[in-house]
Amino acid sequence: MSFELPKLSYSYDALEPHIDARTMEIHHSKHHAGYTTKLNVAIEGTSYVGQSIETILASELSPGLRNNGGGYYNHCLFWSIISPNGGGRPSGKLADAINSTFGSFEEFKSVFSSAAATQFGSGWAWLCAKNGKLSVCSTPNQDNPLMKSGCGNIPILGIDVWEHAYYLKYQNRRPDYIEAFFNIVDWNEVSRRYSEA
Ligand code: MN
Repeated sequence: MSFELPKLSYSYDALEPHIDARTMEIHHSKHHAGYTTKLNVAIEGTSYVGQSIETILASELSPGLRNNGGGYYNHCLFWSIISPNGGGRPSGKLADAINSTFGSFEEFKSVFSSAAATQFGSGWAWLCAKNGKLSVCSTPNQDNPLMKSGCGNIPILGIDVWEHAYYLKYQNRRPDYIEAFFNIVDWNEVSRRYSEA
């Protein structure tokens, strides 16, 4: 029983022009595949075999499990919350929670984008939820909010700000990539995750 690289529900070129096909192909078939393989190697023969990735991430982690377990989980989440049919803004309970927490969708976007832009070096920015309450945080490397080092809330939206996620198209222009990301966010999936968090 081991973790598997998830198949994407869209083609590598489906997110053009916001994320280019070559970046998607390398990101999924090389980077995410690498984290998946190394995660399986790291848990082989341990009591982690058969446990959920969320349970693994919440435990005391060796450096290998922290990097590769985080990398596995983070990218699974990332592919699920972007879509060629994404963009726009959320509706329903998530929209209400964003408005009551941040004041407006524009203000949320500003807070989230700032967390992503100012994460020094490689890492992620997150919108998290717990018992309906929203918060924004960022984490270095492949860490995430579920880890002991994290905020303890459940990530429902995340943006990968490692250079491998955007450098081919955007080079050093991380803010342009963050702006483009909002054109492909699948708010239906983020809302679904919000309702479960
Ligand atoms: Mn990545």
